[in-house]
Amino acid sequence: TDWAAALAAVRGLPADARVLLICHVNPDGDALGSMLGFGLGLRRWGVRHLQATFPGPPEVPEPFRWLPGLDLLVPQDDAYPDPDLVICFDAASESRLGDLVDRLDKAGAALVLDHHASNTRFGGIHLVDPHAAATSVVAEGLLDRLGVPLDAEIAACLYVALSTDTGSFRFEATTPEVHRMAARLLATGIRPGDISRRIFDTRPFGAVRLFGEVLGRARLEPEAAAGRGLVWTYATQDDLARYGQPAYVLEALIDSVRCTAEADVSCVVKQVAPAEWAVSMRSKGAVDVSRVAVALGGGGHRFAAGFTGRGTVDEVLDRIRAELVGALTA
Ligand code: 5GP
Ligand code: MN
Ligand code: MN
Repeated sequence: TDWAAALAAVRGLPADARVLLICHVNPDGDALGSMLGFGLGLRRWGVRHLQATFPGPPEVPEPFRWLPGLDLLVPQDDAYPDPDLVICFDAASESRLGDLVDRLDKAGAALVLDHHASNTRFGGIHLVDPHAAATSVVAEGLLDRLGVPLDAEIAACLYVALSTDTGSFRFEATTPEVHRMAARLLATGIRPGDISRRIFDTRPFGAVRLFGEVLGRARLEPEAAAGRGLVWTYATQDDLARYGQPAYVLEALIDSVRCTAEADVSCVVKQVAPAEWAVSMRSKGAVDVSRVAVALGGGGHRFAAGFTGRGTVDEVLDRIRAELVGALTA
């Protein structure tokens, strides 16, 4: 992490500089929360020409549609084509940025805030901390060094990011420093009960019934991954259409699948085009799913990773099974 270069890049901006914030495709709580929280902080710091965007349709998932700082968002095609500074959040590689990669090349400088061990060190200045529980930890560190005080709006964004990437402070990455940061955020007066209900515990009835159907077709393979057990299911675009649901409701599905006691590894295979599937993988410890994901063209963390698979569900699953054995950590 090159704090000095990052601080110099921000402090050296001319008064009329245009700054563009970007994050990974299908933005999650950490991508949106760290980007918008940092954006609000930059605005307080004095950046006047500031935009935020992400690849794909400019649709923020419903659970995040209350976040402070949404007014920073513009559709990707409207984003500054050649900003003075581009700042990238929570993306492990350029492949996660879709058409926005061209902004990295055309920007005066590119600053990358991330916490993926698999980060490919794209862009110019790296604040990449694989020990950070969320990108928002890095974002808070930079705001602090810039002398920007936390307010309730910045804190709400950073809290969403921290609580989503730690699974509500349940995952191993939940260090004392994570709780200290949460304490700093809560001290601004934000309400953790309200925030948690909005982002974790609110779902349309159609999505509840869709989950019922998709969970009903889950399969358990006790002998996969050298006897560690694999549980998986899939959801098609037709499933979404039948229940009238947008694709992002499926992001929560992995949490209902990974609790399977008999499986160490869990997968949800989500159709994004006729022969294209977004795969989410989770591990309870014996398997490093980021190795599986990287081998299949994706990335992530040891216990939470993903990739885009092509072909049929069976073909995608076969490739996962083949990689699982080599990914045992013990
Ligand atoms: P999720 O399953 O929640 O979508 O993602 C879990 C983790 O895997 C996240 O850290 C995310 O960055 C990573 N991940 C998910 N899908 C992809 C992908 O297609 N490519 C890469 N490089 N990483 C992914
Ligand atoms: Mn993310
Ligand atoms: Mn993250």
